[in-house]
Amino acid sequence: MHQQSPTAGPVQIVTITPDHKFILDEKKLKEILYHRRAQGKKISLVSIAGDFRKGKSFMLDFFLRYLRAKNQKEWIGKESEPLKGFDWRGGAGRHTTGMIMWSEPFLMSLPNGEEIAVLLMDTQGTFDSNSTVFENAFIFALTLLVSSVTVYNIMHNLQEDNLQHLSFFAEYGVLALDAYHTSPFQQLTFLVRDWQFEYETPYGFHGGEEVLTNRLQIRPNQHHDLELVRSRLRQCFRKVNCFLMPHPGLKVTNRREFDGRLEDIEKDFKTQLHSFIPELFRSDNANFVKEINGEQITSTQLFEYFRTYCAVFAS
Ligand code: GDP
Ligand code: MG
Repeated sequence: MHQQSPTAGPVQIVTITPDHKFILDEKKLKEILYHRRAQGKKISLVSIAGDFRKGKSFMLDFFLRYLRAKNQKEWIGKESEPLKGFDWRGGAGRHTTGMIMWSEPFLMSLPNGEEIAVLLMDTQGTFDSNSTVFENAFIFALTLLVSSVTVYNIMHNLQEDNLQHLSFFAEYGVLALDAYHTSPFQQLTFLVRDWQFEYETPYGFHGGEEVLTNRLQIRPNQHHDLELVRSRLRQCFRKVNCFLMPHPGLKVTNRREFDGRLEDIEKDFKTQLHSFIPELFRSDNANFVKEINGEQITSTQLFEYFRTYCAVFAS
């Protein structure tokens, strides 16, 4: 009943052209959001954003496996199965700057039994540094506006500049809203890749909470700018959490012919996937279902918001 069609795959819905214009492909977006499986249903949109070449698409392909397997214990897949779905560097597809959505919704049940449609979105940053600031701000802000859960993928550690960028993107996003709202955005999950200090702070959400508390603390005598960034983040998001992920191993990062198979990935990494992904997709999380202005919305309503927000940024 919930099976995906054989043609399901990644679809580019927002493209940034070489002369820095962004284009929303309404036809393609409509095919996804008006999919019969999503009709009339509330939705959850889970996205991933952050610098390029940091394992975002790779991670998303494990989200896909989880959603496809639907409650099966062995969702993570077979040892020798290549990892496919969104194109990560090992994949064949060309990387184009913009936003990429999985072509079909997945179904999940809320604790009250109501079925909702779950959508996945990947974002692709820019390579050339002249254009990065504006383009990344646009992609990130739009992601925050349309997603219920945004994963901010960062390398090594949660740094001061990650917080500053996020605060800037969020502020940019707020500009697209037609009225002031407290907590306009729902959940922001920092995903720290290649965490190296496990001996001090353990992997997972618990370690992440420690890092986050430490970074978000407002200290006496702190520079006023930093204080502002922190309080803005608290105002903009309903929930902020953080997960510390181990390095996936040298075969993943160094071997040309690595195709994503589990047998080439470190055990610690796989253990943490088992902890991170089911938690991220918990349907009893109050922020899982997408809300706009305090109302849970359907996928066709999301289509209209997408158009509206893009029009605001284009003007
Ligand atoms: P994206 O541009 O952020 O989407 O990155 P990709 O998912 O395309 O991955 C880029 C490269 O990083 C690939 O060669 C992956 O094998 C590798 N990679 C995937 N996950 C990780 C990770 O957790 N840490 C490191 N260091 N590399 C990773
Ligand atoms: Mg990618």
